[in-house]
Amino acid sequence: MERETAWKKYSATDLDAVNALAEDYKAFITENKTERECCEAAVEAARAAGYVALEDAIAAGTALSAGAKVYATSHDKAIMLVQLGALPLEMGANILGAHIDSPRLDVKQNPLYEKDGFTLLDTHYYGGIKKYQWVSIPLALRGVVAKKDGTVVRVSIGDGPDDPVFCVTDLLPHLGAKQMEKKGSEVIEGEDLDILAGNQRTAAAEDAGGDAKGANSASDKDAVKAFALTLLEERYDINEEDFLSAELEVVPAGAARDLGFDRSMVIGYGQDDRVCAYTSLRAQLALANASLKRTAICILVDKEEIGSVGATGMESAFFENTLAEVMALAGEEGHLRLRRALKASRMLSSDVSAGVDPAYGSVFEPKNSAYLGCGLVFNKYTGARGKSGSNDARAEYVAHLRRVMDEANVTFQTAELGRVDAGGGGTIAYIPARFGMDVIDSGVPVLSMHSPWEVTSKADIYEAERGYEAFLQA
Ligand code: MN
Ligand code: MN
Repeated sequence: MERETAWKKYSATDLDAVNALAEDYKAFITENKTERECCEAAVEAARAAGYVALEDAIAAGTALSAGAKVYATSHDKAIMLVQLGALPLEMGANILGAHIDSPRLDVKQNPLYEKDGFTLLDTHYYGGIKKYQWVSIPLALRGVVAKKDGTVVRVSIGDGPDDPVFCVTDLLPHLGAKQMEKKGSEVIEGEDLDILAGNQRTAAAEDAGGDAKGANSASDKDAVKAFALTLLEERYDINEEDFLSAELEVVPAGAARDLGFDRSMVIGYGQDDRVCAYTSLRAQLALANASLKRTAICILVDKEEIGSVGATGMESAFFENTLAEVMALAGEEGHLRLRRALKASRMLSSDVSAGVDPAYGSVFEPKNSAYLGCGLVFNKYTGARGKSGSNDARAEYVAHLRRVMDEANVTFQTAELGRVDAGGGGTIAYIPARFGMDVIDSGVPVLSMHSPWEVTSKADIYEAERGYEAFLQA
C-alpha cells in the first residue's frame, strides 16, 4: 500500500493556509520554550476565545450547559480546556492530549560555582537527550525564581535581540583523542553539562583583601562568581540562596526557522511535543463558536519526558478532578457518572512520531514508518520489544478514525516507531486508557527527535491541525 504526500493535493489557497499556520507555529515555539510559558500562552489564547477559568465558574456556582467553555490549570504547568457539547458528558468526550515539556538541561538547586576564572552553572539534564548534542551551541535560560517573600521572578535570557547567551563548552579536537575513543553516551558526561556564565571579576577595590594577584590568589577567591551574583542582584533582585527555589531551564537559544530551499520544513527546539500541543490547542479553539454534539477537551500536560509523573504529569489526578468539577457544574455530579464519562470518551494522544531519516534508514521498516510530508501519523501501538509498555488501540477505534479522517480529507499515515527490536518509546496514551476509553497515538513525524533542533514538515503540521479538528467534531 502506497502512501501519498500531502503536498500533491494542495491548491494555491491550501498552500497559503499551510504557510500561515507554520508562521504562527514558529512564533509560538520561539516564544514558548518551557511548560510554564506554553501553559500561560494557552491560558491567554483560551481567554481570548471566550473560555472562563473553572475556579471562577465554581466560585460563582455557574451552571454549565452546551457551548460553555472553561479551562483549568495545574501549578501553571498543565492546562485543560473543555467545551461542552449537547450530549451529556456521561456519554463521553472527544479528547486531545499533548505534552508541553521538552528535553533540556535544568539548572541545579545549588548551581553556581567558580573555576579557573569562570562562573559556571551546574545542570541536571531532563528527559532523554544525547548529551553530546548540547555542547558548543548558544543556550538560553528561562524559568522562574521563587523567593521566600512569595514573589516569583521570571527569568528569560538569551532570546532577546540584544541578549547574551550561554553555552556548554567542548574539548578541542587537538586534545580530544581520548575523548573520541569513548562511546557516544560517555563522550560528554552528565556532570560535565555545566553552563559557562561569566569571566569578568569584581573590581579589585571591592575585594575584602584588595590586592589582586591573578585568578587564583586567595583574596580573589570567587571574585568572578561574586560579579555574576552582583549582576543577578541588580537585574533580578535574587541572591545565591534563591536558586534553591528556582526552576531555570537551559534551552537552545534562537528562533524556529524555515528549513530547505522550498521552506517546506520547520527546524526548531521543543517540537516534541509542542507541534502537537500547538495544533491540538488550535483545533480546540477553532471550534469555540461551533455547536458540538460531544464535549471537546484539550489537555496539555507536563513531565511526559520523564514518565508523566508528578502533580502536573498525566499520571496525576488533574484530568479526572477537572472533569469531575465540570460535570458537577453541568448537573452531572457523582462518582459513577464520572467513571462512565471516562470510559465512554475517545482520545488522541497527540504526540510526535519518528520520521524516516534517509541518513538512518536501517532503523526503519519502510512500509510501517512515518514519512515527512505524508500527514498525520497514527501509531496503533508504541512500546519496545514485544510491544512492551504500549497502548494498543483496538481495530474498531482505528476504523472509526479512518472514517473521520477520510471524510474530512485529512492526509494521514500509520506507523510504528522504528523496526521491531530497534528500540521503542512511550507516550501518555496508556494512562487515560486505564479508564477504558479508546486512545491512540497520533501526531507529527519528526527528524532529529530530542535533539536541540528538531525538524518537522509544514504539511504535517497542517494535516495534524485539520485531523484534530475533525476528531473533536466527530
Ligand atoms: Mn513526546
Ligand atoms: Mn519525547
